[in-house]
Amino acid sequence: MIDLKNTQPFESPIYVTRASVCSLDSYCQYLTNVWESGIFTHNGPKVQLLEKKVDEYLGTDTTVAVTNGTIAMQIALRALDITDGEVITTPFSWIATCSAILWEKCVPVFVDADPNTFNIDPEKIERVITKHTKAILAVHVFSNPCAVEKIEEIAQKYELKVIYDGAHAFGVKYKNKSIFEWGDISTTSFHATKLFNTGEGGAVFAKGELKERVKSMRFFGHDPHKQIIDIGCNGKMTEVHACLGLANLPLTDSVIEKRKAISNTYKKILGDSVQFQRFVPNSYNYSYMPILLKTPEACLRIVETLRHFNVFPRRYFYPSLNTISSVKQYTPCPISENLSSRILCLPSYNNLSLEDVQKIANLILAILHDKG
Ligand SMILES: *Cc1c(COP(=O)(O)O)cnc(C)c1O
Repeated sequence: MIDLKNTQPFESPIYVTRASVCSLDSYCQYLTNVWESGIFTHNGPKVQLLEKKVDEYLGTDTTVAVTNGTIAMQIALRALDITDGEVITTPFSWIATCSAILWEKCVPVFVDADPNTFNIDPEKIERVITKHTKAILAVHVFSNPCAVEKIEEIAQKYELKVIYDGAHAFGVKYKNKSIFEWGDISTTSFHATKLFNTGEGGAVFAKGELKERVKSMRFFGHDPHKQIIDIGCNGKMTEVHACLGLANLPLTDSVIEKRKAISNTYKKILGDSVQFQRFVPNSYNYSYMPILLKTPEACLRIVETLRHFNVFPRRYFYPSLNTISSVKQYTPCPISENLSSRILCLPSYNNLSLEDVQKIANLILAILHDKG
């Protein structure tokens, strides 16, 4: 056990994450083409190439790149004609999941999370379905696949649409296919803090005619011949962002490997002292390192003490979305509220050394055992 009083803080701050990026040189090589072509946006060659490369990487043919993961959800709702009524969702997520529903003038209906998987509890969905229910918008929390088969069964029974917010889940496969193949539409985020990033960015994954509608909607409602055929918005990714994606994409496997090593290091040291999320085996990407403390007090004590050592884990997701009164009138979701009060995401990113991870884990152990 390390002695907290005789341990030096880290020289520079260690935040919960840092963007995983290519070398500036490899980015600039792609940018050179953009400057030569003079094409900076409008679904140009780099965006098209990025979509192709992402499809190759994921084993899909459904990728439509957009400006961010929030607009991706808004377009998904619109493309499925969900413009009013109730959308069942989880309170244990980032605010964007819920605000996308509200922004599209629908009513989010919260179903509590499962205390082990952290995802929406499929057993509690049916009891909130009413004649106004249009869709289920679930989140693969920290890349852990939702109970997709059970959700599909419910959706078929009640004729509901299913959207998955896969902002965390890039590269995850479930039952031998990309997790983004499940549901009517899946979305993801390429934000700088996500596993694979384009600075800001995201994608919608849709099939057939629905994919064409999504492409039209991100582009003011144009068809490929520039005829206006629908009501759209502007969700186009720029060529400059697509270049960053093209340069970053080849790093993805090594980024996952590194985060896996970080996760294993934390788990080995923290062992039984904290609780871990129960993942679907081999179907997650290690992009987050969530731990659950026994009590909210222990959680806060760790945050407060680690601060003095220049380490900044993040209370994420916190607060539970059902408790944000400016968003929606409170409905109780005791499990999500409880998870939020005890969860911390620990630092995990590509160039965090395993020695630093060991030190952070040992600091947490010492804080948990420090009775003083
Ligand atoms: C990051 C995130 C989003 C939003 O993605 P942006 O690209 O930042 O708009 C949505 N949902 C979840 C769960 C996220 O973590």
